[in-house]
Formats: sequence, C-alpha cells, structure tokens
Amino acid sequence: MNQQIREAIRDKQRIVIKIGSSSLQHQETGDLDYIKMEVLVRELCNLRNQGKDVVLVTSGAIACGKKAVQIKDGDNPIAVKQACAAIGQARLMMTYQKIFAEYNQVTAQILMTRNTIVDNLNRFNAANTFTELLKLGVIPIVNENDTVATYEIEIGDNDTLSAIVAALIHADLLILLSDIDGLYTDNPRTNPNAQFIPVVREIDENILRMGKHETGSSVGTGGMDTKLTAAKIATASGADMIIANSEDVRIIHRIMDGREYGTLFTAHKDDDFYLTDFVEQMHND
Ligand code: GLU
Repeated sequence: MNQQIREAIRDKQRIVIKIGSSSLQHQETGDLDYIKMEVLVRELCNLRNQGKDVVLVTSGAIACGKKAVQIKDGDNPIAVKQACAAIGQARLMMTYQKIFAEYNQVTAQILMTRNTIVDNLNRFNAANTFTELLKLGVIPIVNENDTVATYEIEIGDNDTLSAIVAALIHADLLILLSDIDGLYTDNPRTNPNAQFIPVVREIDENILRMGKHETGSSVGTGGMDTKLTAAKIATASGADMIIANSEDVRIIHRIMDGREYGTLFTAHKDDDFYLTDFVEQMHND
C-alpha cells in the first residue's frame, strides 16, 4: 500500500520544493554552501527536463544579507532585518541565476506577503504570473517579501509560504527539505525512543501533538509545527506533501523515483478549504 502511493509520486506534474536557510548555509560560517546549491539546481533542472513544472521556495535572504554587512545573529530591530533581506535577496538570486544559467534554465523571482493571498486582485495577478511563467518553462523562485513584510502582513515562515504557493498554483506535490528526516512521534534529538512516521493519511490531534517539538536549527523560522500547518494547507488543496532531509539534496530524484524517503502526507482535497480564509485567519489565532 505504502509502496503504491510512493510510486504514484513519479507521475506528479507540478512540484513545489522548499529549502530553508539552514540547509543552504555552512553551519560553521553561515556562508552559502555553493556545492549544495549546485546539486539542488541540477535536481530541479532535471525535473524540468522531464517536462514537469517546478517552483522553488527558498529562504536565505536575511541570513545572506546579514553575512554581507557583517551583522550578528540575535535580536536585531525589524528595520535591520528588512535591510538585510533587501541586500540578501539580491545576492541569493544572483547565485541561483548563475547556477541555473549553467543549465540554460531561465528563472524568475516572485516575492510575496500575506496580502498577495488575502487581496483578491493581488492573488489573481500572482496566480496568473505563476501560470504564465510555468507555461514558458521558467522556474519561479519564491520567497517572502521580507523587506516590506512586518508582522501584520507577513506569512512568517517559508514552510507555510510554500504550501500557500502549492495551493495557489494547484500543485500536486510539495517537498519540504528540512534538517530532519521527517515526522517523528517525539523529538529524535532528545528522545531516543522517538519513532519515525513514514506516511500520514490524516492530520489529527495525535499528529498535531507530535509537531510541538522544535527542529534543531537556529537559522530558519520553521519548526515541525509550521510543517504540519503546511501539510494541512497542501493536502486540503489536493497536493501530497513530503518532509525530507536536505542533507543530501539528491533525495529529490530518489523521492521522484517513488522511493520511500521522508514522511509523506497524502492529499485529500477538501472542497470546504478556502486558502484566502485560512491565510486571513492565520494571525488571529
Ligand atoms: N524569508 C526568510 C528569508 O529568506 C526566511 C523564512 C524562513 O526561513 O522560513 O530569510
């Protein structure tokens, strides 16, 4: 049964892949890991070569900007983070474009906030732009528009953002690349008895409780709970979602080969799920 749903992954046509800051940087220095980025880009280009639609959601803007102007981690004022995002987003894109160009792949940048979804005209425009880019064979590279997004209008983490993108463009698969193998019954870093969960068919209270523990990184913003929020959005909108370890990003083609890596959350389209309402509610909880 599990094997069957894994094999069905091969036929997925529109795929959103999210990678976090902690996966893109060298842990010791905080500088970008070019080798990892290069392998990631090659994997994505190869999916394009198979005729699939590919969208990359990438963090790293703030981290990259901080590095460029030597600002230390810690409690920096919002304006400093926004300035760092402005510096870092351009640098991040420059690096991606350089590598994608080696494979002759055209990319585009899309920066979003919560308003992109909540405002009808913005959402309509964003969806049209994605559709057109994918039709042109371009790989959209998405991040939150951290330079203008303050608490009131931010989505807040790229796990949720990537699921929102998947819902917006009617993707059939979302892959969250993280610093953990997938979902465990408890935090495997602190509890040696924590069990790995290969497939989740329903995100119930039991599963939500497992998301309460944090992942190990201090760089990104997403813990397991944001991944479960992402899973709710993605699966209710009709996409499967997989949480997988980004340590070796070649895991992407292994997953696409139908092999059992990471935790798979199976899609169950919910006609009562409205993306706009969900996003609108997000900060009211
Ligand atoms: N959008 C932020 C950045 O690019 C990161 C958000 C996240 O890691 O989830 O720096």
